Amino acid sequence: DGGGNVKVVVRVRAFLPREIERGAQCLISMDPIMQSTTLHVPNDSDPANSKARTRKVVEEKNFTFDNSFWSHDKGDRHYAHQEDVYNVLGEEFLDHNFEGYHTCIFAYGQTGSGKSYTMMGTPDQPGLIPRTCEDLFQRIESAQQETPNISYHVRASYFEVYNEHVRDLLVPVVPNQAPYYLKIRESPAEGPYVKDLTEVPVRSLNEILRYMKMGDSSRTTASTKMNDTSSRSHAVFTIMLKQIHHDMDTDETTERSSRIRLVDLAGSERAKSTEATGARLREGSNINKSLTTLGRVIAALADPKHGRGKRKGDIVPYRDSILTWLLKDSLGGNSKTAMIACIAPSDYEETLSTLRYADQAKRIRTRAVVNQDQIS
Ligand code: ADP
Ligand code: MG
Repeated sequence: DGGGNVKVVVRVRAFLPREIERGAQCLISMDPIMQSTTLHVPNDSDPANSKARTRKVVEEKNFTFDNSFWSHDKGDRHYAHQEDVYNVLGEEFLDHNFEGYHTCIFAYGQTGSGKSYTMMGTPDQPGLIPRTCEDLFQRIESAQQETPNISYHVRASYFEVYNEHVRDLLVPVVPNQAPYYLKIRESPAEGPYVKDLTEVPVRSLNEILRYMKMGDSSRTTASTKMNDTSSRSHAVFTIMLKQIHHDMDTDETTERSSRIRLVDLAGSERAKSTEATGARLREGSNINKSLTTLGRVIAALADPKHGRGKRKGDIVPYRDSILTWLLKDSLGGNSKTAMIACIAPSDYEETLSTLRYADQAKRIRTRAVVNQDQIS
C-alpha cells in the first residue's frame, strides 16, 4: 500500500564563521530518542533575534518529526553526518524506487540554512543527490549479476524554476545570449511536464555525476550574473529508472518505471509576501510566486477537510505557480514524498516559520502506486 504521510525531517547546521563572530547563541536542541526539536527563547543581544525580543517571545516551542538531524557540533555523539542523512532517508527512498514507486525529496529552509549542502553537498562531503546516484548504480551493477533477466535503464534531467520561468540546466549557457525558457504541458497519462526538456540516458555513476555538476555550474554561472539566483531559484534534479523484467517461464515482459525527484527549493525568506515592508516592496518581483503558492498548496493538502466531499473551497491551487504545477504529483498524488526542513541554529523568527511549515507538511497524505505495466 502506497498511501502514507509525507515524511518530514529537520536538520540543524553548525555556526558559520559570521555567526561565531557576532557571538550567536544556539537556540535549538534535539532529543534523539523522541525525535523532537525545541526552539528556545533568545536571551542574548544577538541582533539577528531583535524581532523576537521585540515581540517578547517567552515560550519555547516543541516539534516532533520523523527524524531530527543534529548537525550542529561535530563533537556530539549524536552528530548527523551526510552519510547518516542518506542512510536514514535516501536509502529507504531508493528502495521504493526499485519497488516501482515515484519519490520526491525536497529541501526547505531560509537561505544559508543548509539546503544545498544537504542535497548536493561538497566534493568532500557529498549530499543526498550524489549518494543516491552512487547507490543506484551499485544496486544496478549487483542486480545485473544476480538477475540477468532484468534490464535497467536510467535517464536524468535537471532544470530550475526562476521567476516563474523554467530553464534547462543541461543545456550549456551561451554567453551574451538571452536564456532560453521552456514551456509546461500537461498530458492525461504523464500529468504536467516540461516540454523539450533535455533527458539524457546514463549508463554509469561517473556519467550521471558529470551531468549533475554540469547542471550545478549552469545554475551558478547564471547566479553570478543575475546576482544571487540560487537563493531565488528552485532546482529540480530528476532520475528516471526503468526496470524491464522478462519472465523466462511465461515469456512475459513487464516494465516498472519510477521517478526520483530531488528538489533544492528557493530560500523560504522569499515566501513572505504578507510581510511586504518597504524594503520588500522595492524588490517586489523577488517575492517568489512558486514558493508562496507551495505554502498555499501545502496548507490546502494539510487541511483535515481536504479530500472529503467535493466542496468548492477544496481545490488545491497547483496551477497557480510553475513549481507547484510541475510537482503536483509529488505533493498530493502518486509519489512517496519527504521534506527536509533545514534550519540555522540562531535565527528565531525564520526557524519558527520553517518548523511550523514542516509541521503542517506532516499532515499531507499521498497515494503512491507501483508503476508497472505488462508490455508483451
Ligand atoms: P542554502 O542552500 O540553504 O542556502 P547552504 O547549503 O549553501 O545553504 O549552506 C550555507 C553554508 O553552511 C555553506 O557554507 C555550507 O557549506 C554550510 N553548511 C550547511 N549545512 C552544513 C552542515 N550540516 N555541516 C557543515 N556545514 C554546513
Ligand atoms: Mg543553496
